[in-house]
Amino acid sequence: MRTPAELLAGLGRWALTLHRGKRAMYRYAQSTRENMFRSADELLFRQLAALTRLVDYAYNNSRFYRQRYHQVGFRPGDIKNFSDMARLPELTKSDLIDNMDAILCLPRSEMCTAQTSGTSGQQLAFFRSRRCQTHRRGIDLAWARYFGWRDGQWHGWLWGATPDVLMPFGWKARLVRHWAERQYFMDVSRLSNENYQAFVDQTRRYQPPLVSAYPSLAHDLAQRIEAGEVSGVRVPVLSTTAEPLHDFQRNKIKAVLADEVYERYGAREYGIVAVECPVHQGQHVFTDSVYLETVETDSASGLRRLLVTDLLNLGMPLIRYHSGDYAELDPSACSCGLSSPRLRNIQGREVSTIWRPDGSGISGIKVTHLVEQTDINARVQIEQVALNRIVIRVEASPGSFEPGLNKLVQRFSETLGPGLRYEKQYVTRIERAPSGKYQYVISRVRRPQPS
Ligand SMILES: [Zn+2]
Repeated sequence: MRTPAELLAGLGRWALTLHRGKRAMYRYAQSTRENMFRSADELLFRQLAALTRLVDYAYNNSRFYRQRYHQVGFRPGDIKNFSDMARLPELTKSDLIDNMDAILCLPRSEMCTAQTSGTSGQQLAFFRSRRCQTHRRGIDLAWARYFGWRDGQWHGWLWGATPDVLMPFGWKARLVRHWAERQYFMDVSRLSNENYQAFVDQTRRYQPPLVSAYPSLAHDLAQRIEAGEVSGVRVPVLSTTAEPLHDFQRNKIKAVLADEVYERYGAREYGIVAVECPVHQGQHVFTDSVYLETVETDSASGLRRLLVTDLLNLGMPLIRYHSGDYAELDPSACSCGLSSPRLRNIQGREVSTIWRPDGSGISGIKVTHLVEQTDINARVQIEQVALNRIVIRVEASPGSFEPGLNKLVQRFSETLGPGLRYEKQYVTRIERAPSGKYQYVISRVRRPQPS
């Protein structure tokens, strides 16, 4: 049962959505929900139809795809079943960076734009048609509802957020926050007991049915609650994403912080594409919005590369796009009743915490945001080699990007505070993790005892 205040805020959100001209978001949320419960045959039929439409559309509207597909002898109408997709070349992040103008099918001014989180080591400005953006917001509404959240209720985020999102400025923004959006965030630029306590206090006040979190942050909070450093709180559902959720993290979070823990999978470029069900054996794919494939890697590791085809974005088509992750796809029936295939054993997204000498930490994702704000157009890796020493590695010839690097060192000093030294290293190649995944932020130190 929702409280009168929640019902009122639900109306507020609806009015705000109407005001912004995004009413279709509710329709998309509804259709996403309906699609989740369709039979496997129906899902496959609809997905293949959407896939055929998309590939033909990209051929007809994007110079880049036309040229590439022409090279392999592909013509519109050639996709007759899913296995035909293997004929098409894969798309890497570098392809996107180098060929953006030829890839785009709509004028930039008619699209929404954003940057990737940078966890794969290369920055990318990407584009989404407005319709796709609204549809993605509808899917976000659908998964939140699937996890038990209802319109008008609060949603907490243990998450990297910009200052204006953390603390809305002005009475209008605060009114919108309180009576429509109802989201609150923790300041993850300083992982201190005080900031965690502030988040816990808000959680007690707002009683959210759902908290979204990086697993490393939720685990950190649970540990601090257990140690008595932060007072306790429990939420019905905690949903993690952006990093792999390890069993030790899930167990601790369930013991201390949340009745249920559900993962969801996505990336900035294509949004949330799969959610975990109560059976906890993989994440069900939203087949009406994406087509996923896994392909063998050349290593003997047995890992399979996950390729994503976004069925919604007609502005910047993503077809067989390298997610940077490894996963398995399980098409077998799930006892939860949903028929869509499940993503399992997702690997590759590792993000560390950088620690300050005073015992407070900063999330690696926040660190990647700092790198994003500079204009270093090369691969960068940040490694904390000792509590007082951080190495900034750049894959470039010596002396390149000096102004950007100096700016970055300055940003780090401002954010991380005193007691840290920074070392710039130019290298010909940044080594990858054993999984093949690029590690943007590495920390070799453990959390120090608070001084
Ligand atoms: Zn299931």
